[in-house]
Amino acid sequence: MKKILSVAVVSAMMMLTSGHASADAKNPKIGFSIDDLRLERWARDRDYFVAAADKLGAKVFVQSADASEQKQIAQIENLISRGVDALVIVPYNATVLNNAIKEAKKANIKVISYDRLVLNADVDAYISFDNKAVGEMQAAGVVKVRPKGNYYLLGGAPTDNNAKVLREGQMAVLQPLVDKGDIKIVGKQWVKDWSPSEALSIIENALTANNNKIDGIVASNDATAGGAIQALASQKLDGKVPVSGQDSDIAAVRRVLAGSQAMTVYKPLKLLAGEAAKLAVQLVRNEKPAFNGEYDNGFKKVKTILLKPTALTKENINLLVTDGFYTQAQIAGK
Ligand code: BGC
Repeated sequence: MKKILSVAVVSAMMMLTSGHASADAKNPKIGFSIDDLRLERWARDRDYFVAAADKLGAKVFVQSADASEQKQIAQIENLISRGVDALVIVPYNATVLNNAIKEAKKANIKVISYDRLVLNADVDAYISFDNKAVGEMQAAGVVKVRPKGNYYLLGGAPTDNNAKVLREGQMAVLQPLVDKGDIKIVGKQWVKDWSPSEALSIIENALTANNNKIDGIVASNDATAGGAIQALASQKLDGKVPVSGQDSDIAAVRRVLAGSQAMTVYKPLKLLAGEAAKLAVQLVRNEKPAFNGEYDNGFKKVKTILLKPTALTKENINLLVTDGFYTQAQIAGK
């Protein structure tokens, strides 16, 4: 009897220290920790996610780390102590969340990596678009316009695992053309925080170093593409040098229509956010999500849901309207 009592006391104490007694499967609480809500794309993710979670009976607490790893760690700790049942994380820095996630797991919280994979940590699931395919589309989009010449590779943030996966996809398309001698890669850089102004100065320097002889720029998203195109414009090369992107940011869509950006990629964020909300709720309810892949994050093979992206050029960009991502008036800026 004495022994049984002490076990009960110990487990009650554990519940108290973990700050998380038992998951509320009917109305789960979800913490959504986002790298940076100041960017167009992530604000959309948040809105779609909150709406989808709401429909599933879940309540969402959203935090934006504003591109600071310390802030993100503190916010995750705060969400843990608020007793969330699931944590959905868009990591700023893929490699620094290991300890915070350990704390979450101790408190029996399900951890989902959203869009970007958290590395070397015990995450329960990952959901994203097929980023390797996005990288392939970016390279193929530039090659289609300029099959030969000097190429510059403008990568994403070095803290973001997606940047590396995109590069893998880009090189899968480019390497055979490099081997054939059609394409010469004259330079490549990762762009800190995916920053447009950083991209601008990288391409300014690359143009100077190559006497303006750059024939194609494989940029890894629309934000960095915008910086690159600004650098091209100051040399009157915008529209002459194809540049890739992704996200279908409103400014990029207008550039594609105007001819200064060769392509972008449409990733239906409503689908991603909706599937992610469903995934979080399913994990809390101990149901089986429909995984379609696995990703090694250095700690374990993480069960993954990968969604399909679509390449967009001037020809098919109207898909954004038919799919409800923008109205025609939004694109026209009216
Ligand atoms: C996302 C892109 C986004 C970039 C910058 C990447 O991880 O997949 O859609 O443009 O981060 O926020």
